[in-house]
This record gives sequence, structure tokens and C-alpha cells, in this order.
Amino acid sequence: MLASVFTGCGAATGRSSAPLFCFLQVNDTHVDADAGKDGYAKATEKARWLIEAAASGEHFPRPDFVVGVGDLINGERLDALAPDLRLFKEMLKPLRVPFYPVVGNHEVIQQEGSPKHEQAFREAFGNDRVNYTFTHGGILFIALNNAGACSVGQAVVKARNDWLRRTLDAARGVPKIILCHIPLIPLREEAVLAKSFGFRSYIDHDAGTLRIVDEHADSVIAVLSGHLHLTGVVERKGICHISIAGTASYPCDYALYSVFPDRIEVAVRQLPRELVTPGTNIHGQPRYRSDFVDAAHETPWDYIAGNPSERAFTIPVSATQSRVGGQLRTSRGP
Ligand SMILES: [Zn+2]
Repeated sequence: MLASVFTGCGAATGRSSAPLFCFLQVNDTHVDADAGKDGYAKATEKARWLIEAAASGEHFPRPDFVVGVGDLINGERLDALAPDLRLFKEMLKPLRVPFYPVVGNHEVIQQEGSPKHEQAFREAFGNDRVNYTFTHGGILFIALNNAGACSVGQAVVKARNDWLRRTLDAARGVPKIILCHIPLIPLREEAVLAKSFGFRSYIDHDAGTLRIVDEHADSVIAVLSGHLHLTGVVERKGICHISIAGTASYPCDYALYSVFPDRIEVAVRQLPRELVTPGTNIHGQPRYRSDFVDAAHETPWDYIAGNPSERAFTIPVSATQSRVGGQLRTSRGP
């Protein structure tokens, strides 16, 4: 699998006019109810800042909704899932806009499709929040659980892919954004990424999931992911595959999406300086003796945070719309 390096769906345009709607991507917050555990430094404090910022509109415009693209909690053990999720739910209280969660590997300890492991997530967010869709402003958002990545059996992957195919087939002609925790394609040069991430789940290795998404490239605008703890964008078949580092580890990123009739403007931001923790970098020092670069990312900073064109860019939606005949609406969906 070789995807083209992101060359910019379009540089940030700076064009004005009010967006139809905005949303915030939060992921890899790794909130941990057991403060004594060896989790990410300041993880809970960082997540709390971001949720409160979204609620207040003090640091960026108040979003219409928030998507939580997995690894919201640290979890790690079956008996830690419920307390961690309860704490995260408690932290969401100030938020007066909808929060749409996506299952990450830390919510279910990699056990995608296991009722026992999904129980705490379902209790926290609702029984209908594992594989589900919602519509906002004419875009269909598809929250897909691919948390098992490469560690679950074929039956689980088949069930995931059958649901995804049915969902996409049922909405032909509707512009779509897919939310799945584990990226479907490599966001860096694959051999380098496998090494710097250090886990086999640097992509969802099931070729079937990607094939289904590719087959619907005429209506899928973007795939939003996390998991890698680095920020990057790769365009493949006209679909922007975006992964945001998340807040728990360096560079401590979140992303704001402003949706206009003809484009989506994406702005990746770091947490405030006092919450940025260089020691939590998982793609370089201190985890490794040296830092990483690849052909398209010449410095360790570019490797971990993405090139400037991966931190502020525009996805043209008009092209997608004209291909599918869809139309973004100003009306606010549920
Ligand atoms: Zn993850």
C-alpha cells in the first residue's frame, strides 16, 4: 500500500464569510482516573482544558459539536475502563453541545467486538454509540469502530466491514466524513512509521475496510483518525486521510474544522504552552535515543507535528459535491 504524500488539498485560503458550522476533533486524551498510575503527564488536566475551552468559546469559536476520535481514556485493564470513562463523562458536563465518541483501542483494550470489553463504553455513552452515524448540515458522519486493528479475528473484521458497506451503500450521493480511531493508510513513510510508532497497529491492516472506503471515494470527503500520536494528512483517491496527534502526548494537538458550502478549513492547534509536554513524545526522544524524519518531513518537528500544509489546509468540498450531486445545507442536523 503506497499512498501519495499530502501535497495540500489546498493551502489555507483565508477567505472570509461565516462557516455553515464548525466542529472540534478531540482524541488520544488518555484520561486516567488513577492519578497514581504511570500514564501521560497532565493527561486529565489537558483534556479538561480542551473541553472547557470548547464550552466557553474563549480560545476558539464555540463548535457546534465535538467528535471524540478514540483513546479518550487510558484504560489498559478491564477494571479500569469504567472508572476512566466515568471520569471522562464527568469532565464533559460543561460542554453544552453534542459529543460524538468513537471507540479507540484504549476504550476496549484492543478487543473490538467483545461485549465484555465494550460494556463500559456503552454504559458511558449509550448502547448506540459503537458503530453509528449522525448527520449535520448535509454531511453524514460515520463513526466506525476499528479499534481491534490487527489483533482481532476475521469474523469481527467482517462484521465491521459489512456494517460500513451497508452504511455507505445506503447513502450514495451524500457527502460523508468517516471517523475511525486507527488510520486506514500510513501517515508517514511506512517503514519509518512502523519503527517510530513501535506497534503493529500504525495502520488498520485490514485491506477490506480501505477498499470499501475507496469504492465510495466519490462521496467520502475525509477520514478522521488519531492513535498515532502525530499529526498528518495524506490524500488518496481524493479523500483526505487526517490523523491528529491528540492532547496526551507531544505535540499535544487538537483540530478545528470550519465547514463552508464549498470547502472545509482545517486548523490544527497545540494546547497552551504550560500544557505542552515535550517529554511525552512517542516518536523520538526520550522514548528513543534519536528522533525520526522521513522523505517528506525533514525535521523531527515536521515528523511529529506535520508540515505547515498539514496543520492548516482546506479541503475543497465543491468537487465532491459536484461528483455526488450532494448539497451542504445551512440547516443544523440533530
Ligand atoms: Zn489508539
